[in-house]
Amino acid sequence: MPALHRRDLLAVLTGLTAFGFGAVDAWAKAPAPKSVKKPTPPPRPKLVFLDPGHGGKDPGAQGVRGTQEKAVVMAIARELQRELQAGGRYRVMLTRSSDSYVALRERVARAQAAKADLFLSLHADSHDNPDVRGASVYTLSEAATDREAAALAARENRADAVVAGLKLADKDDNVARTLVAMSHRGTVNDSRRLAETIVQGFSRSGVRLLPRTHRQAGFAVLTSPDIPAALVELGYLSNPQDEKLLTVRQHQIALARALRGSVDAHFAASTATRKA
Ligand SMILES: [Zn+2]
Repeated sequence: MPALHRRDLLAVLTGLTAFGFGAVDAWAKAPAPKSVKKPTPPPRPKLVFLDPGHGGKDPGAQGVRGTQEKAVVMAIARELQRELQAGGRYRVMLTRSSDSYVALRERVARAQAAKADLFLSLHADSHDNPDVRGASVYTLSEAATDREAAALAARENRADAVVAGLKLADKDDNVARTLVAMSHRGTVNDSRRLAETIVQGFSRSGVRLLPRTHRQAGFAVLTSPDIPAALVELGYLSNPQDEKLLTVRQHQIALARALRGSVDAHFAASTATRKA
């Protein structure tokens, strides 16, 4: 076994050098044979965490025809999971994989424990005015950009109050603390960039959008200091056309493809920034 012999010889030579045998010094300092070098492992596929909103005893928004938010966002999350996994470039995990209730802070904890590279929370909204329709994208902020975004964050954060006895008193503190940590680590800018990329992806794919569609507010589910995160409202279940579209497989696939394109663009841009 020549390989073994060479290793033994090197070990002996190194030992001799340690004792001051100058003659073998040059030998011992010779560059190690190439075969000893470990091959560099291929880059780890990025981990995308998908968060289908609500679940279990929390149905989320209700459509005019009875569609439940928790069901349509799960269908679209599954479609997006398939899209992302198909290229072999991503690992995908879901904060919930069945119709079960998972608290918002537990969703955050699961993404953090898995060291996710990206977090996308998927929802469908509801409005008093049935004419309001279109998708919108949200990132975390202490002060909401407008009253509607503040009200939406309050609605989405109420998901935690579904479990009796769960205190939300520290929620605002948590948003403020997280934002400090996020801005130190560049996650605030990364999240905003992600949201803008999603808006562009939707508009390129012909997905109808709300005006001023990227908004900000204090969403409890977006409070991971290290993970760029956005919450996407895919449409309004209170609008009959949006409700119908959200349940149509072809539209679910179109939304998933647009989101996959945005995830691709997000990682391509962050690689380019790191190399620059
Ligand atoms: Zn929701």
